[in-house]
Amino acid sequence: MVGFPPFFDRTVMARKLAKSTVDRFKKRLVEERERLQEVVEEYERELEVARMTESSSDRSPEPGNAEASSMKLEYAKELSIEQNTLDLIGKVDHALKRIDAGEYGICEVCGKAIPIERLDVLPYSTLCVEDAAKIR
Ligand SMILES: [Zn+2]
Repeated sequence: MVGFPPFFDRTVMARKLAKSTVDRFKKRLVEERERLQEVVEEYERELEVARMTESSSDRSPEPGNAEASSMKLEYAKELSIEQNTLDLIGKVDHALKRIDAGEYGICEVCGKAIPIERLDVLPYSTLCVEDAAKIR
């Protein structure tokens, strides 16, 4: 588990989120995780169909027809959407671990409290606005 940075100001702990607030975010994160999991499963079903279509077009006597190449593009797009969703699941899981560690709502980089408004928009956020901007 990630510890507090050495320069972490312990007085920030006074702003620790109330248990009821954390529970509310935890519920949202668990629901979000279920939703994302369903999205991934749906993509995997679609990709399976795309793979089958692709292998049958390989046997086609007309190589590189427009339909097949647009299918490949679609397939690549689906893969990247799936990857983004998996990344998001990773973030949600990470935020849930922060909750279990009692560190939810505290920036992992600077140790400051993450504004509740930010958590409302991005419940899986484990960085303050400034640090998230630096990483991106
Ligand atoms: Zn920060």
